[in-house]
Amino acid sequence: MEAKKPIEGKMRYLKYGFVHMECKTYHCPECRKILNAGPNYQPKYCCECGQKLDFTEVKWEPDKQIGYKEEEENYGKEKLPKIC
Ligand SMILES: [Zn+2]
Repeated sequence: MEAKKPIEGKMRYLKYGFVHMECKTYHCPECRKILNAGPNYQPKYCCECGQKLDFTEVKWEPDKQIGYKEEEENYGKEKLPKIC
């Protein structure tokens, strides 16, 4: 099977309950499942469909802080998507 490059995406999440963060996500080019990948770990295959993945050209960047949560919307906890 030929290795394919993962699709880059963006995701926002809340850190410590009040800091808005933006991070890059990588998705399987076949089934679009979000991949559990980071600077220190890149899966060789998609855990969902088994597509071979090529992370060699991915540039890893730290998560970006994009602002603080307003007082009045202070209700939830850190939301993270389900990953493999
Ligand atoms: Zn897949």
